[in-house]
Amino acid sequence: MPGITVKTSDGRNESLSSETLDALRAGLRGALALPGEAAYEEARSIWNAMIDKRPAAVVRALGTSDVIQTVRLAAQHGLLLAVRGGGHNIAGNAVCDGGLMLDLSLMRSVRVDPAARRARVEPGARLADLDKETQAFGLATPSGINSTTGVAGLTLGGGFGWLSRKHGLTVDNLLSADVVTASGEVVRADEKSHPDLFWAIRGGGGNFGVATSFEFKLHPVGPQVIAGLIVHPFDDAKKVLDDYRKLVAKAPDELCCWAVMRKAPPLPFLPPDVHGKEILVLAMCHAGDPAAGEKAVAPFKAIGKPIADVVGPSPYAGWQTAFDPLLTPGQRNYWKSHDFIELADGLIEVLLGAVRRLPTPDCEIFIGNLGGAINRVPADATAYPHRDVNFVMNVHTRWSSPADDARCIAWARELYEATGKFATGGVYVNFMPDDEAQRVRSGAYGKNYARLATIKAKYDPKNLFRMNQNVAPATS
Ligand SMILES: Cc1cc2nc3c(=O)[nH]c(=O)nc-3n(C[C@H](O)[C@H](O)[C@H](O)COP(=O)(O)OP(=O)(O)OC[C@H]3O[C@@H](n4cnc5c(N)ncnc54)[C@H](O)[C@@H]3O)c2cc1C
Repeated sequence: MPGITVKTSDGRNESLSSETLDALRAGLRGALALPGEAAYEEARSIWNAMIDKRPAAVVRALGTSDVIQTVRLAAQHGLLLAVRGGGHNIAGNAVCDGGLMLDLSLMRSVRVDPAARRARVEPGARLADLDKETQAFGLATPSGINSTTGVAGLTLGGGFGWLSRKHGLTVDNLLSADVVTASGEVVRADEKSHPDLFWAIRGGGGNFGVATSFEFKLHPVGPQVIAGLIVHPFDDAKKVLDDYRKLVAKAPDELCCWAVMRKAPPLPFLPPDVHGKEILVLAMCHAGDPAAGEKAVAPFKAIGKPIADVVGPSPYAGWQTAFDPLLTPGQRNYWKSHDFIELADGLIEVLLGAVRRLPTPDCEIFIGNLGGAINRVPADATAYPHRDVNFVMNVHTRWSSPADDARCIAWARELYEATGKFATGGVYVNFMPDDEAQRVRSGAYGKNYARLATIKAKYDPKNLFRMNQNVAPATS
C-alpha cells in the first residue's frame, strides 16, 4: 500500500509511510478503509446529510486494541482525529476533513446481567440494540427517543428520554466506562477509579478519551407500557399547550409527555384531509405499572378535541422506535435548542407563529419534558449541569435540497433568537450544531466548565480529542 497524507490538528500535512500503514493494518482486528472503498463511504456517511467530510483514512475498529493503536498513531503524529459512535450527532464531529477517523459503529455488542441488573455496552451500539437486549429481561435504562441514535455520543453528553423523569439521565445510570485516554492507556472510570474522569464523561462529551465500554444500571420497565400519541388540530394548539404545561407540572415521575409541532405526516390513524396540515402532537410514555399509567394519562386524554388518540398499551422497545420514521438519516438538518424552566405565554405565542411558517413539511419543533429524577441530582454532581430545566426545545429543521439551506437555516435561527428571552441560557450539548462554539463554555457547561477544563488538561493536555463541542485544556 502506498503512503498517504493526513491533516494534523494544527493544519499541517503529515505523511504516513506505506510501512506505517501496513503495520497498522496488520495490527488491527478491524479494517483500515481508504477513499474509493465502499467501507470508507459507509463509515463517513452520518445521519445529517449536511455533513460531507472526507477523512484521509478510517479505522473501522472491532475492539479496544484497535482503538489503542489508532489513538497512539494519532497522538504520535499529531493527527486530526474524529471519533464516531452511532454517527447521529447534528454537528458532524464524528467525521473530519483530511484527518484520521476512528469509526466505532461496528462494535455493537450489549451484554445484560439480569441478576445484577446491569448492561455492558460497546460504543457502536444504537439505542435499539440496548433496548432489545435489556427488554428481553424486562429491564431498561433511560436513553433517547430515536432508536437509531448511538449510545456512546448520547451517553457522553447526558442523555434523556421517556424514562428520565423516573430514572434520571443516561449518565445518572452510568456505573463505569473503559476509556482510552490521549496517551493510549486504557483506564476504568467509575466512582472509585479515576473519579475525576468519571465525573467529566458524564456530560462532558468526547473530550476526555475514547470510551470503549459502558456499564449501565438497569430498571424493571414494561415490557408493556402505556404510551402513544394524541394529535390535536393546530387551531387548538394554544389552549392545548396551556393545559399541557399545567398537567405536566403535577404529573407523576413515571409519566413523560413531549409536545411536537409539525405538519401532519400521512400516518394511518390520521384522516387524509389532515395530512400536510399543521398539528400539535402530545407524545407520552408511562414507565410504570400499566393500570397506574392509564390513570396518569387520563387527564391528557381529556384535553380538547383530538383528531386522534392512540395512547394505550405498547411494548416499550416498540415505542422507542415510534419517531424513527420521522427522523430518518439522509436529510439535511440544522438544529437550534434552548432550555426552559417553564413554558411562558410569550414563548408559546412565538412557537405557534413559527409553526405557521415551517419552511418544509419535515421541519418540527420538539418540546421535551424533563424534571423529575433528573432535577433531584445536584448540578455539580456530574458534568451535565442543567438540573433545573423542565423543558427543552429542539428545533429540527429538515430539508432535502441544498438550494433550501439558507431559507431553512434562517427560519431556525430566527426562532432561536425570538425564544431566547424565555430561556435559561443553558443548552444541552448534544443538541448543538457545528456553529455554536461560543455556547460551549457558558451555555453547555456554565459553572462546570472550569472543572472540565482542568480535567481535560490532565487527561488530554494537547487536545487530541478536539472534534467535539470542545473544552480547551486549562492552562495553569
Ligand atoms: C434524530 C435524533 C434524535 C435524538 N434524540 C435524542 C434524545 O431523545 N435524547 C438525547 O439525549 N439525545 C438525542 N439526540 C442527540 C444525541 O444524543 C446526539 O446526537 C449524540 O451525540 C448521538 O450519539 P452518536 O454516538 O450517535 O453520535 P456520533 O456523531 O457518532 O458522536 C458524537 C460525538 O460524540 C463523541 N463520541 C462518540 N462516541 C464516542 C466514544 N465512544 N468515545 C468518545 N467520544 C465519542 C465524538 O466527539 C463524536 O463527535 C438525538 C439525535 C438525533 C439525530
